[in-house]
Amino acid sequence: MALRQLRYNDDPILRKRSKEVPVVDDKIRSLLEDMADTMYHTENGAGLSACQVGILKRLVVIDMGTGLYKLVNPVIVQTWGQQECVEGCLSFPNRYGKTRRPQKVTIKALDEEGNEMELTGEDDMAKCICHELDHLDGVVFLDKVYEFLEITD
Ligand SMILES: [Zn+2]
Repeated sequence: MALRQLRYNDDPILRKRSKEVPVVDDKIRSLLEDMADTMYHTENGAGLSACQVGILKRLVVIDMGTGLYKLVNPVIVQTWGQQECVEGCLSFPNRYGKTRRPQKVTIKALDEEGNEMELTGEDDMAKCICHELDHLDGVVFLDKVYEFLEITD
């Protein structure tokens, strides 16, 4: 198990666009494993993008309690509807807000073997997918908040 250092708040790397991964090799698989370890090690961790551990590659891990997804070069194929969400982010501890996200989303990506895959998520899963994919373009949830919330753990 290898944990990576999370990047927080005003770290400029969180605002940069991540690059496509040309080849899914052992180095990428190892990085995805580290990202998953780091996500599971962090309280409330349900998703993590590589830029959040300082690496500008289009890699995302997600586990909303229904299993671990490792996504390489994910892109949105289609969205349906809209939902109001309460959102937070591992890179912005103790900040929460209301956002609007699609109610359902389908993405395509490569899996950790480099095979094409499709994934459809609804409700919280759709929120999480959209949140993590935004990170790949340097967009953070705070950009989408229409009302900030005071939540004390
Ligand atoms: Zn985030």
